[in-house]
Amino acid sequence: MKFPIIGDIASKTVITVNINESAAKAIEQMLKHEHRHVVVEDKNEYFIISVIDILNLQEKKITLDTPLSSLKLRKVSVINKHKNVLDTLEFLSDNVEYICVTNDDETLYGLLTHTDITSNIDPDTLMENYRLQDFLKLGRRMKWVSKDEKISDLIADMVDSAYDNVIVVDNLKPIGILTTKDVMKLIKAQVDFNVAVEVHMSKPVDSISKSSSIKEALNFLKSKHYKRVVVVDDDGKLVGIISQKELISLTYSKWAVLMKEYQEELSEINVMLEDKNREYETIASTDSLTGLYNRYKFSELYLSSLLAMKQRHNEMSLIILDIDLFKKVNDTYGHNAGDKVLVQVSHALLKTLRNIDIVCRWGGEEFVVLLPTASLENAYSLAQKIRTHIEELEIDIVGHITASFGVAQVLESDDMQSVIDRADKALYLAKASGRNCVKTCSEI
Ligand code: GH3
Ligand code: MG
Ligand code: MG
Repeated sequence: MKFPIIGDIASKTVITVNINESAAKAIEQMLKHEHRHVVVEDKNEYFIISVIDILNLQEKKITLDTPLSSLKLRKVSVINKHKNVLDTLEFLSDNVEYICVTNDDETLYGLLTHTDITSNIDPDTLMENYRLQDFLKLGRRMKWVSKDEKISDLIADMVDSAYDNVIVVDNLKPIGILTTKDVMKLIKAQVDFNVAVEVHMSKPVDSISKSSSIKEALNFLKSKHYKRVVVVDDDGKLVGIISQKELISLTYSKWAVLMKEYQEELSEINVMLEDKNREYETIASTDSLTGLYNRYKFSELYLSSLLAMKQRHNEMSLIILDIDLFKKVNDTYGHNAGDKVLVQVSHALLKTLRNIDIVCRWGGEEFVVLLPTASLENAYSLAQKIRTHIEELEIDIVGHITASFGVAQVLESDDMQSVIDRADKALYLAKASGRNCVKTCSEI
């Protein structure tokens, strides 16, 4: 198995803005491409700005036309696309979320995230590609002494510092080892401790090169039935000692950290997607001016209400209302004033109706209300109540307006269009009867 090359796994769809642009431009790019972060370019240096940073700016009341160059942005490390992914592990474990990947001429090639890495490696790969020297850097606890050291001094030292083994060196080259197990044997045999350690040490000591992989080291330990291995450099000089347990736990803990970060990133993305879905759902089901349901959503709710009506055997009615002489409002006071009337009428509707009633902007200045538990009489009285409420509204600039109403009861056999048609006929009658009144389909 080969360790992946960064260029092969980095995301190439990176959104960038120049450092001289404003924060607003960064947001615009984020929204346009639905990315949670944007790379800010300053010649061959790269910074990152994320959604969280933008929220922070708003929190601190920093205006969005501030140039990115005057914000404190996080600098992102840079790595050449030909490098091996192993070269990034040290960066990423230091809580760095991104690395900019560059071409040979230092221009931006892509972005590397935890996800890109964790989805491309596994513990097995780590074991094959991690060298012993990478772990030895961590400063393993190791005790080594010269071959002339007296065993009595050495034992006192081992007891003091709780080392369970000591490597014996000659000219920095390991020549033997003395473990606590060896010491036990010596005590039992009642040997003289007042002699140099080389007399009683176990020898020779096997060693392995620091450039060996974890996998090679593990195989070596397994074949020799050793618990630990002495590591040497190219000249055979002592570098450190590493145990089987350490090798495994280090590999897996690295893996676990990467996996955890991957999970966190995934759950963050999930939350974002859920939010987005809710947002899209709202946009798709409501009218942007009034916030009421649109026709599309209404037809969906009509079907479920009809089903419930049939199951529960209750009565259900529908009101359609149309603002009177609305064209004149627009012509006299302008379209914006007209829009305000529409908003106020929708507020009046929501105020008069119950939560279970379904209010929809049918189009233009027409609204439809579905009353899932109302008889024709109930619906009629409710329409009258709404009519009075609208008539009494004091609307800025425009003053008073009125609306006309058509009411119909929903029959079990009704699809949405047929009941709307009946209510519409009643509305037409209301208009013909001088407006600002309620008519039911029974009067047609
Ligand atoms: P009637 O009493 O017979 O209903 O007369 P009306 O003037 O209300 O009826 P008409 O259908 O002739 O005019 C409706 C007007 O509503 C025309 C259209 O420009 C206006 N309109 C439709 N949608 C909107 C909107 O979203 N905002 C505004 N301001 N006006 C709108
Ligand atoms: Mg109309
Ligand atoms: Mg009208």
